[in-house]
Amino acid sequence: MFRLAGIQIIIDYSWFIIFFLVIYSMAENYFPATQGSFSTSQYWIMGVIAAVLFFLSVLLHEMAHSFLAIMHGIKVTSIRLFIFGGLAQVASEPESGRHEFLIALAGPATSLLLGFGFGLLYLVMFLSGHLGPVASVAGYLATANILLGLFNLIPGFPLDGGRILRAILWDRWGDVTRATRVVSGIGNAFALFLIIFGILLMVAARSLISGLWLVLIGLFMKQSALGSYQAVVLRESLAGVQIRQVMKENIVSVDWLLPLDELVREYFYKYQYTNFPVLNRAELIGMVSLDQVKEISKELWMFKQVRDIMTPIEQVPFLKPTDDATEAFRLMVSHDMGRMMVIEGGRLVGMVSRRDLLDLFKIKSDLGIS
Ligand SMILES: [Zn+2]
Repeated sequence: MFRLAGIQIIIDYSWFIIFFLVIYSMAENYFPATQGSFSTSQYWIMGVIAAVLFFLSVLLHEMAHSFLAIMHGIKVTSIRLFIFGGLAQVASEPESGRHEFLIALAGPATSLLLGFGFGLLYLVMFLSGHLGPVASVAGYLATANILLGLFNLIPGFPLDGGRILRAILWDRWGDVTRATRVVSGIGNAFALFLIIFGILLMVAARSLISGLWLVLIGLFMKQSALGSYQAVVLRESLAGVQIRQVMKENIVSVDWLLPLDELVREYFYKYQYTNFPVLNRAELIGMVSLDQVKEISKELWMFKQVRDIMTPIEQVPFLKPTDDATEAFRLMVSHDMGRMMVIEGGRLVGMVSRRDLLDLFKIKSDLGIS
């Protein structure tokens, strides 16, 4: 895990499987087949170099998405690299189809450019008769990046192509929900195709590894397509509901002079909320969250008070009773808050949590109302 241009880069353990697979297949199959005259250890060194450069290629693909997102005012919190590639985590959704179009296109465009770049390098070496290990690695990276770019352009969610198509439909219909439903459907169909094709490969062609690989990617895509569809249904279900209808009015708040050890024992343990409003006598002065407590080492809890770590009220995002529940959910996700204060006329009138909104969604779908 490290940071790059303010974005946290998280490398999932599952990524190392890919890393090893790339090194292994390079060293044992690809390079010996294309380069006849090297020793085993040389093949392995080439494999490691190819794997590192492939890793950087995938990272560049995600960085391209991220930079475009940042350019359009969307906060990118992290990039996660895992077994099926990379994922840039954004704090909010793009506001228009045009923004989403550019953000989604940046990734595959970068991969294709990298692919052509490595391809050009390979071509130059081929034409000048230098078909050594460098040309071999370049040839591999050209193929890998072009395949990565093309695969991501398939127009189904959660692939970039799905986002591009959604952006176009969104622009045309002016209805993001309907557009998402369509591309999730395509993503789901494509995932099913991958699964069936993978099983056929395993059974009929006896390519166990490639077949299993396709089945796993298919299952992952199916899950993601379903997830994005559910997010849309959730948004639909919450639209038109006012915060006043779901907020909890019996508010548990904490005193600003409360020591942190008591805060943990008497409040976080007891109520299991992620944050609490802070009062100085009757006046609302801030908010204290579990994350803020976690930043203080346990030995200091008895010596520090809520006021030492809380966020002052001017800096706490809040909701109004008339706010739309969809907007509230979006705000909670983008500020990474489990619970928000509802304020009316400068007075704290209620609290609403992500759990409240999800419970409402569940009850509405149980009753068959969406
Ligand atoms: Zn991408």
